[in-house]
Amino acid sequence: MLFTKGFAAQSPTSPLEPFSFQRRELKPKDVLIEIMYCGICHSDVHQARNEWGASIFPIVPGHEIVGKITKIGSSVKRFHIGETVGVGCLVDSCRACSCCHEGLEQFCSAAVWTYNSTTKDSETPTYGGYSSQIVVDEDYVLHISENLALDRVAPLLCAGITTYSPLKYCKVGKGQQVAVAGLGGLGHMAVKLASAMGAEVTVLSTSAAKAKDAQKLGAHHFAVTADKGTFTTLAGHFDLIINTIAVPHDIDAYLRLLKVEGTMVMVGLPSTSFNLHPSSLIQGRKKLMGSLIGGIAETQEMLDYCAEHNILSDIEVIPIQEINTAYERMLKGDVRYRFVVDMKSLVD
Ligand code: NAP
Ligand code: ZN
Ligand code: ZN
Repeated sequence: MLFTKGFAAQSPTSPLEPFSFQRRELKPKDVLIEIMYCGICHSDVHQARNEWGASIFPIVPGHEIVGKITKIGSSVKRFHIGETVGVGCLVDSCRACSCCHEGLEQFCSAAVWTYNSTTKDSETPTYGGYSSQIVVDEDYVLHISENLALDRVAPLLCAGITTYSPLKYCKVGKGQQVAVAGLGGLGHMAVKLASAMGAEVTVLSTSAAKAKDAQKLGAHHFAVTADKGTFTTLAGHFDLIINTIAVPHDIDAYLRLLKVEGTMVMVGLPSTSFNLHPSSLIQGRKKLMGSLIGGIAETQEMLDYCAEHNILSDIEVIPIQEINTAYERMLKGDVRYRFVVDMKSLVD
């Protein structure tokens, strides 16, 4: 077994603290990755605090992982020692169902999540990227160019793919009006990607202070949602809204901003349900859909797209010892726009 240092929460109410555990010995198709950087996703907070229910404790969060391969199993074909790689939210799936065959492993009923999940034996817990190293089957590992700023690549593994996938699915391009609701980790990637794809992008935010940043990130317009006028001025304006808001909100108000036959994609996942009036969809044949990260092949496609278009996350790098403060700051919207843990701080 491979001795591994990490940070874990022992219960929904305890802070993240140092925690040591064992990674499995390498199976033939496994690679061992020394973790360099791990982004902090709002989903880490939801799960460390058991806000979605059924969290497995102790929990070692982290699914925006970038590192270097230090060892490979006997039959690994796609990677070599020393290579820079990424791991996102998925580390295994059944590989036989229609979802797996179609590259939609995230919807496989036997998907194994990077943390807060169990391996295929249904017993062994998975531990995520707030740790020194991870062992992953090569089929769930992504290629990353070592020439990129690797700390700024880490958030692409969740925030990047979660926004890229619905933008692609909805065929976003020139001439389309796209709104991004919530300018956080996911939101800022949605702005960069949608504008790279040619759309005219508007940020819908609770934070007036983010207006200048929004423009720098590539948004063409910015509207404050606390300003009641926003919902009248922009009524019927958007082809697509990417909704990243992490708390319950007035969804009918946002649906009114769509054009006839427009679509709102929910990616934000609050812990409680909230109301929707059917007339918000009926009036204008509007569509409400959800989207969950993306499959492995699409994640590689997104990483290649970002490398080609020079799209990276805007980050604040922290040592792991500041993780609990970072959680509190993220909950207050005080991050520009993703915290990334420098994992050297864990082993020093
Ligand atoms: P984040 O960085 O905290 O961003 C969330 C943003 O929501 C905030 O920056 C803020 O933007 C806005 N917001 C916060 N409180 C609000 C309120 N009361 N009313 C309206 N807007 C508010 O979080 P994230 O990492 O981007 O994640 C966002 C959500 O997506 C979380 O629920 C997370 O679990 C979920 N998620 C889903 C997937 C998926 O596959 N579907 C993947 C990853 C994460 P402004 O300051 O601009 O208002
Ligand atoms: Zn995430
Ligand atoms: Zn499957």
